[in-house]
Amino acid sequence: MSFFDGIPVAPPIEVFHKNALYLNETAPVKVNLTIGAYRTEEGQPWVLPVVHETEVEIANDTTLNHEYLPVLGHEGFRKAATELVLGENSPAIKEGRSFGVQCLSGTGALRAGAEFLASVCNMKTAYVSNPTWGNHKLVFKKAGFTAVNDYTFWDYDNKRVHIEKLLADLEAAPEKSVIILHGCAHNPTGMDPTQDQWKSICEVIKRKNLFTFFDIAYQGFASGNPDADAWAIRYFVDQGMEMVVSQSFAKNFGLYNERVGNLTVVVNNPAVIAGFQSQMSLVIRANWSNPPAHGARIVHKVLTTPARREQWNQAIQSMSSRIKEMRAALLNKLTELQTPGTWGHITQQIGMFSYTGLTAAQVDHLIAEHKVFLLSDGRINICGLNTKNVDYVAKAIDETVR
Ligand code: PLP
Repeated sequence: MSFFDGIPVAPPIEVFHKNALYLNETAPVKVNLTIGAYRTEEGQPWVLPVVHETEVEIANDTTLNHEYLPVLGHEGFRKAATELVLGENSPAIKEGRSFGVQCLSGTGALRAGAEFLASVCNMKTAYVSNPTWGNHKLVFKKAGFTAVNDYTFWDYDNKRVHIEKLLADLEAAPEKSVIILHGCAHNPTGMDPTQDQWKSICEVIKRKNLFTFFDIAYQGFASGNPDADAWAIRYFVDQGMEMVVSQSFAKNFGLYNERVGNLTVVVNNPAVIAGFQSQMSLVIRANWSNPPAHGARIVHKVLTTPARREQWNQAIQSMSSRIKEMRAALLNKLTELQTPGTWGHITQQIGMFSYTGLTAAQVDHLIAEHKVFLLSDGRINICGLNTKNVDYVAKAIDETVR
């Protein structure tokens, strides 16, 4: 007898499962388009040079120690992260209506934000885009939301944002529902609303008294410019919206396993901040008590040292340009092969992912016959492509869809 008898085995987390299948594959030619992490032209993980230099400096700084950080995190990091997403001249910053809370990467920021809304504000209905990142529903449910619904995002036939249905779904959401919006580089579709579409989304959220929860895990990655990628969030702030914004520094700093994240909070009235922060301290105290320092120190130093920040800007530009080049290379090859179907969406989409439109059966075939590993919904990580394997992948897709 065990206390744990009868616990059913949960289905595997697809992205990690597929990544493991790739790693265990013994075929000499194989391609990994699964996990959302940047890869160089050589197919390797990349430690950004500016991150490495900063780490060395931190390691040699004898004034630093390993004492606990405050519950809400590293002060300088929280401020720098908030300024990065809202913009230094944000009215919310100038009017003292915003602050950051250091969290365990983007997932931890989502979790802390969701648990706060559910347990302190009694908001228990959330809406996520359909499709969305595989973890959104799980995080909100485990954080205490009783209803995690979908709003339409993707028009599968025309491979575009289905703005009409999206707006209609938001119109129908009950007051005080929490609407989770991808700040940029929507995962998995790689397609963001246009500026006009964002304006319509903001208008409905405001008029229907819904609550905005932005999730921005790819700031800088989408366009190569962190300010441009934060446009939608800053527009909502300009419209006087209250919101929380989960930020991840996994992708744009390459700090995946250091778990560096921030929850930026924007409120209408500075008088509510003391209550908010005290209750948020309890949420965090009960989860991880206080956050780790290493990654936060790196991000803080890089963002607040002009020369380093410039190096970082160049690094994100180089990552985002390589992704754009690989999109173009894949599309060119498919066009050259006259692969049946339309493929223009590959270069219209932005960020790390392309939502190819390949069916689950085609995905199975690509894995079994060509050892090209991707997610069953047809999402590929463009970073897994390089000049040496892109033709191989295009030919494999061509053979698969014929
Ligand atoms: N949100 C989205 C949309 C993501 O794609 C990711 C990572 O893949 C995250 C949040 C959070 O990632 P992390 O917890 O590694 O920062």
